[in-house]
Amino acid sequence: MNSLPTDDIHINHPDFRQEVLTVEEAEEMGEAHVATSLDTPLREDAFDLDDSLKIELIEEHFREIMNILGLDLADDSLKGTPKRVAKMFVKEVFSGLNPKNKPKATLFENKYQYNQMLVEKDITVHSYCEHHFVPIMGKAHVAYISSGKVIGLSKLNRIVRYFAKRPQVQERLTMQIADELKKVLQTEDVAVIIDAKHLCVSTRGVHDTDSSTVTSAYFGKFQEEATRQELLRYIGTLNATI
Ligand SMILES: [Zn+2]
Repeated sequence: MNSLPTDDIHINHPDFRQEVLTVEEAEEMGEAHVATSLDTPLREDAFDLDDSLKIELIEEHFREIMNILGLDLADDSLKGTPKRVAKMFVKEVFSGLNPKNKPKATLFENKYQYNQMLVEKDITVHSYCEHHFVPIMGKAHVAYISSGKVIGLSKLNRIVRYFAKRPQVQERLTMQIADELKKVLQTEDVAVIIDAKHLCVSTRGVHDTDSSTVTSAYFGKFQEEATRQELLRYIGTLNATI
């Protein structure tokens, strides 16, 4: 594999130039959709650069990608694309990488003693496959049984969105949401189900437009069959809709 000239690399970090995989190795890893850890693999210096510098650098590098593809950056329709993509990466689709964007969850006393299951279903999930950098689109269903504290309903959506706004694999996204809910709600009794379509499966590779992927994480009481069945009844038929 040819490497790019190094004099144009502006990020001065020893790990920036990673071990290079062969095309076959990279393809195999991507098709298998292997996740290596539950934590998003981030370097320690991930936030040493501020957002505006990141946007500037990504813009430069994305312009280079477009150049290599042979696109005419002088064309009116294309000339703003590198900046738009850079801003979209940092401020929108990958904004959940930065802990400063994590939603603050305020807990309320459960004054009315509601101690049954609460299910927030059909939460929109828009994430990005970390192997191909194309969208994952679907629905998340989250549930918990109150330990005496409750959370504003919109906070559940915000937690899902925060972890979705990263390069992800669906299994890790499911677990990260469940872990956060356990921490925030101070209970083990949480469940997360995600039903999603992967554009890397539908628009390339095997070109399967009908399949969707379902992942789940059940903790505490949700590991009991009756509780799990109750949850699945509320959710009804799983069917990822874009
Ligand atoms: Zn993929």
